[in-house]
Amino acid sequence: MNDFGYAYEEALSGREALKLAEEHDFAAILLDVQMPGMDGFETAKRLRATPRSRVTPIIFVTAIHRSEEYEQRGYIAGAVDYLFKPINTQILESKLAVFAQLFQQAEEIRRQGELLREQAVREKENQMLKQALAAKDEFISMASHELRTPMTPLLLQLQSLTRMLQSQSLGELDPVRVKHMLSISGAQVQRLARTVDELLDVSRISTNKLNLNIEEVDLGALVERVIALYAAELQRVNCVVDFVAEPGVIGYWDPFRLEQVLINFLSNAARYAAGKPLEVRVWRDHGKAAVSVRDEGIGIKTEDQSRIFQRFERAASSRHFAGLGLGLYISQQIVTLHRGEISVESEPAKGSRFTVKLPIEKPAAVAPPELQA
Ligand code: ADP
Repeated sequence: MNDFGYAYEEALSGREALKLAEEHDFAAILLDVQMPGMDGFETAKRLRATPRSRVTPIIFVTAIHRSEEYEQRGYIAGAVDYLFKPINTQILESKLAVFAQLFQQAEEIRRQGELLREQAVREKENQMLKQALAAKDEFISMASHELRTPMTPLLLQLQSLTRMLQSQSLGELDPVRVKHMLSISGAQVQRLARTVDELLDVSRISTNKLNLNIEEVDLGALVERVIALYAAELQRVNCVVDFVAEPGVIGYWDPFRLEQVLINFLSNAARYAAGKPLEVRVWRDHGKAAVSVRDEGIGIKTEDQSRIFQRFERAASSRHFAGLGLGLYISQQIVTLHRGEISVESEPAKGSRFTVKLPIEKPAAVAPPELQA
């Protein structure tokens, strides 16, 4: 503490002053014009170039340079005031009081600014948390609805089968009717299973646990198998499939995950292009393996075409078409993990073509690419 009650640091040369100015925040600097080595003008110039003392008020103190020219040099060098020795302590004290007050006010403003910034960050975090909770609630309600929907027809089929068995013996049942009821029930169970699988996959993706089991795969044979697996459902919605595959399109992929992508394309076609023919193609495209599914269904507007690959994004009316908006998101993640590309070309009311292109080469044991949330 000095006589005026302020904490202070003393420097015996310009260099020492510069060092101190780098280490502390000062409310004011009293600077002698005559100093050994670096003089006061040069020291002031360098203090101005030091970030911490860039705007610190400098008061020059001098015993001899009482000329206008010297005073002017002082101001040019960055002084805010000039005092002549012997110093009038009362004047010095009142000047220092002003600078100390300015310094405290600046500190206060800086602290308030920091508090405001922290508050803004907290508010933003709260808002994001609220949005995330609202999204989660909406998702739970959508998922519950999606799980509940197939249960009603499934229960109805089971109830009428039970009733039929109460009034007739097993041998008296009409086999065509029973087969039809079982096929409806099977489709509902399949839909339930698919929704549960999609939900599980989304949770795997968000915890980075969607892994690939790579093996040698014949793409044409895989696609043919999926079409056969899905034939009953396609027949039910009157979709005739025209399938052409270039032979020998072989690569290293996860067959289970690729089947999932194909089933997603076919089940979307069955929903959004019911009653219309489908074209499925497998070919080699500039050193890559390609597969596409083309339909003549409701199509997708250009502005919706990239968004539908994101989580929960849908372009079709949920009143007319059931769905969670997860199939294409999961498909895209699977294709990205394979270092491939997925794309859509589509025109409303004309139809859509979904294409996947995959590298053929055996992947080196490297880390998978980052998945997008
Ligand atoms: P979901 O079909 O369950 O909503 P998807 O992720 O599979 O989820 O598809 C996202 C959206 O993309 C669908 O809601 C639909 O609007 C659109 N879409 C996907 N496939 C087709 C298609 N073949 N024809 C028209 N629209 C489609």
